[in-house]
Amino acid sequence: MVAAGTVRQVVRNASVFDSAAGCMRPGSTIVIEGDRIAAVTQEPLQVDDAARVIDAGGRAVLPGLIDAHVHVVAASHDLVGLAMQPASLVTAQSSTILREMLHRGFTTVRDAAGADHGLRSAVERGIFEGPRLFIAGAPISQTGGHADMRPQGVKSREMFCSCAGLGLIGAIADGVGEVRRAVREQVRQGANQIKIMAGGGISSPTDPLEGTQFSMDELRAAVEEAEAANLYALAHAYSPRAVTRAVQAGVRSIEHGNLIDEATARVMKSHGAYLVPTLSTYAALADEGTRLGWSPAMLDKLQMVKDRGLDAVRIARAEGVPVVFGTDLLGHMHGRQPGEFGLRTAAMPPAEALQSATIVAARLMRQEGRIGQLVAGAWADLLVVDGDPMQSLAMLADPAQGIRLLMQGGRVVRDSLVA
Ligand SMILES: [Zn+2]
Repeated sequence: MVAAGTVRQVVRNASVFDSAAGCMRPGSTIVIEGDRIAAVTQEPLQVDDAARVIDAGGRAVLPGLIDAHVHVVAASHDLVGLAMQPASLVTAQSSTILREMLHRGFTTVRDAAGADHGLRSAVERGIFEGPRLFIAGAPISQTGGHADMRPQGVKSREMFCSCAGLGLIGAIADGVGEVRRAVREQVRQGANQIKIMAGGGISSPTDPLEGTQFSMDELRAAVEEAEAANLYALAHAYSPRAVTRAVQAGVRSIEHGNLIDEATARVMKSHGAYLVPTLSTYAALADEGTRLGWSPAMLDKLQMVKDRGLDAVRIARAEGVPVVFGTDLLGHMHGRQPGEFGLRTAAMPPAEALQSATIVAARLMRQEGRIGQLVAGAWADLLVVDGDPMQSLAMLADPAQGIRLLMQGGRVVRDSLVA
């Protein structure tokens, strides 16, 4: 039944991307009631007079896109400097990042650390225009781990405490008890998923990229606490050793994973883990890292992983590990977000790249049927685009032109169909 006052909208003459099957369904009609999809059909449909009709003109209609690895508070590539900014300024800058992500077609994002429940509420209440936010809160890091940004020489644990929970500085935890407490704290602060640093990283000053972080007992404790709250853990990891340990401890997705080999991918497959590569951030930093003042040590680490990113995608695919769309961009480099599609289509067909940013991401986030799919019951998040997405995703690389209508939760965010 349609509730009284619920707006009914119909998108007709649509070539709908069936993300489960990975193909187009031309001649489809999408019926939207309020903020949800009520029906998608290729049968002729009698449209009642009260409905608002959108004629897609035979164009492709895609589910709203999902980026499963973003940092919406990362207004700067200088993560230490960012942590020193007042929360009000970080929030103000985040509102711009959120709006621009939405306008690139990303109606949902999984924040891989930094965003808090206040930002999520601001989007839910319509104060900020932006993607639906699934937050991790602070990333959990061991002392000297990937989210421990303290320069050598700084001994205080609290120097970079960001009390508002903004910025990308980690919750530092050592030992099973501290790890449990740190995860529980993120749960208390409304996390949708728990981010743990299971290996070295590029942007952190003191950890070797190929090292492992946290003991197995600590990793298992983090996963157990996440699952106790009906959440799951995602782990930052590059090397086969770090990835294997994280997956064996029960982590659901591996973030980056550039250095994986076939044996590691098989371990991921046997544990049902997902891979979330973030190719665009390496491309961006390779172009700009020197100018941005990154240290030679950090740029050396970047070089180690950059060229292996696409290999990791190929290896994961070959072993049957589901590959999810992620970007991990910082500061002014956020504009490169749609470029991830172009990088990935070197290793997979366009339809599969689109699945990685829709239904596969939804499965990872345990949101299948709600996002990433144009089916009855899902949020009415959709894009009407020019071009044939089975051939090329070029329309997404230039979203201002290529996305002709953008709808989120039944609300038309922008529309240039009748122009
Ligand atoms: Zn990240």
